[in-house]
Amino acid sequence: MSKREDVEDYLEDTKEFPKVRKSKRKWIIISIIILMLISVVVFIFMSPFKLKKGDIKLSYGKKYKEPGYSALKYGHDYTKKVKVSNNINYKKLGEYKVRYKVKIGFINYEAIRKVDLIDDEKPVITLKGNKETDVCPSKKYEEEGYEAKDNYDGDLTRKVKTIVKDDSITYSVSDSSKNKAKIIRKLTYQDKVAPEIKLNGEEKVSITAGNSFTDPLASATDNCDGDISSNIVTEGSVDSNTPGEYTITYKIKDSSENEISVQRTVTVLKKSSLNDGRPGTIYLTFDDGPNQGTTNVILDILREEGVPATFFVTNNGPDYLIKREYDEGHTVALHTATHDYATVYASDDAYYRDLYSVQARVRNITGYNSTIIRFPGGSSNTVSRRYSPGIMSRLSQSTLAKGFKYYDWNISSGDAGGTTIASGVYNNVVSSLRKDRVNMILMHDIKPYTRDAIRNIIRYGKEAGYSFEKITMDTPMITQGVNN
Ligand SMILES: [Zn+2]
Repeated sequence: MSKREDVEDYLEDTKEFPKVRKSKRKWIIISIIILMLISVVVFIFMSPFKLKKGDIKLSYGKKYKEPGYSALKYGHDYTKKVKVSNNINYKKLGEYKVRYKVKIGFINYEAIRKVDLIDDEKPVITLKGNKETDVCPSKKYEEEGYEAKDNYDGDLTRKVKTIVKDDSITYSVSDSSKNKAKIIRKLTYQDKVAPEIKLNGEEKVSITAGNSFTDPLASATDNCDGDISSNIVTEGSVDSNTPGEYTITYKIKDSSENEISVQRTVTVLKKSSLNDGRPGTIYLTFDDGPNQGTTNVILDILREEGVPATFFVTNNGPDYLIKREYDEGHTVALHTATHDYATVYASDDAYYRDLYSVQARVRNITGYNSTIIRFPGGSSNTVSRRYSPGIMSRLSQSTLAKGFKYYDWNISSGDAGGTTIASGVYNNVVSSLRKDRVNMILMHDIKPYTRDAIRNIIRYGKEAGYSFEKITMDTPMITQGVNN
């Protein structure tokens, strides 16, 4: 090839080349423009929102709290223009939406946050009785009951499943969101509880020497063995003829060797004899009053003669006479409220009801809580047997245990029926007075013939050298012996 030919070829080539490069550049520019247009459109429609934390789960019972958001567009902050709303129903589990809306230019933008209202709390099972329960060795455990409550489903007690084994019971339940609860009751077959022992009658008993003591015994019950009274072992005894303090111990053991004991104290008081107290003393005692027309006159005479006496009153008669008795230095003692044998001796309880009634009356009038008593008919009466056999044996002990002292008499004036004239009363009394003993005289201040005899009785006693005293809690008891 010639040199010229080479040059021509070359020129041919360089003519073609710029044509190709020109068309490629055009396409590139078009593509770039299209891409830029797309970018602008995308940019325009791109969400301005940023939601902190995104979708969230909300526990049932809690309120939705906005985690925060922002709306930025074209370099501006539109956050404050955002409108937020939600459709959450707090009473119902489920998926809800929080909507964020803002208008920028001609375009409405919206973002959504999903809120899942869930129950993530398990039910609560509550056992009645203890979680660790002792069961009587010979018995089967009896279900004491249980309860299951859920924050969302409410009462699930009926859905509780139990698995009963020898040494445990497992209670389990699931709520509608499959939250599971479980609790175990442990069973131990043992009895660590001691029996209970209860004394029949009073814990402290007093009797006067010579009266027999009948042990009222005790009863015992055990949480596992039931009534085991017949297994009580009694230790100690009472010598009712020898004054002193005696202890009786009642012991009981259940089948699991739990043991307990209680004690009763029996005080045997020195036998009161008719020679107790200061010999040559006269106690003027008046029963069944007060009574207007007799008691007031007797009080006048006692004041004039300067001697004290003892009045065993009832709920009859005017209050002011009881007040006078007390204010003028006599002893106001208790006879019973009604003095009606059928009422008073119907039962031990009936007696005390009646006694406390008159005690309250005296206390209300005088402020003095009298504990000096005389049984209607005396402690030796037999009429009470008609209403309650053995009641005097019981009352003569229980009154002492309750802190009372009772007084019978060793001289009867006969004014309850033996005589109905003043000279009869006088003779009965003075013929029985003795210098070598205490003289406890039974009279009734409701009787006019006693009223009319009393001054002469006092004068006789004074002249014969007797001294007059009223009963106090220090006065040795004068008792006749119980016949019922
Ligand atoms: Zn009487």
